[in-house]
Amino acid sequence: MNFREILDKVENNIKGKSNLGKLEEKGSDPFKILIATVLSARTKDIMTEKVTEDLFKRYNTPELIATANLGDIEHIIKSIGFYRVKAQRIIDISNILIKKYNGIVPNNFQELVELPGVGPKTANCVLVFAFKIPAITVDTHIHRIPNRLGWIQTKRPEQSEIALKELIPKENWLRFSRLFVKFGQQICKPFRPKCNICPLESICQKDFTMEKELREKRKKTKEKKNFRIKQKMRVG
Ligand code: SF4
Repeated sequence: MNFREILDKVENNIKGKSNLGKLEEKGSDPFKILIATVLSARTKDIMTEKVTEDLFKRYNTPELIATANLGDIEHIIKSIGFYRVKAQRIIDISNILIKKYNGIVPNNFQELVELPGVGPKTANCVLVFAFKIPAITVDTHIHRIPNRLGWIQTKRPEQSEIALKELIPKENWLRFSRLFVKFGQQICKPFRPKCNICPLESICQKDFTMEKELREKRKKTKEKKNFRIKQKMRVG
């Protein structure tokens, strides 16, 4: 199976689009895609979708967000994690875009990662979903799934990005980035992946080393915590 066939199989077995995919489909401008990506960090897609909708009803340009009341933005996005930090970040980003880029989102990786709170993952998402520039958006799903499949053996997302760029032909990067996030949310989930309905089951090595290591780490943390509690109880 080549990569195009793999992506066809995945596409035929997942439903719907990610929040960024929906924004892209609506023809949303790069600013909305950038802000939605910043807000999505460590947050479920469904929550990000709701808050971005609410936010953009009132504040949908760099000028409007830059001059918004911080408390008001915090109130609108308060249902997502780290909302205080994120509210300040989107105000800071908007100010920089106005001062440095005439309110226009830059379309290159280097300038994007210089914006506050914009790391490689966010920058790549903006390149893919806002500008259709080939990139690999390594989030938790895109780091995990190729490791399970046995395509790569990496410990960190940055390593996965490099390894995947070497492995996947560039013409498939955009589709891969768009599809594998949904694939990770619906089929190859972090816990209890649905291997029985997976279209890639026949080519998957089911390497769950990453999950085993995570479980071990959690077990050790729990043991240490319990040990400290016991020690305290003895002292008391
Ligand atoms: S077979 Fe299971 S582990 Fe492999 S890609 Fe499919 S869902 Fe993920």
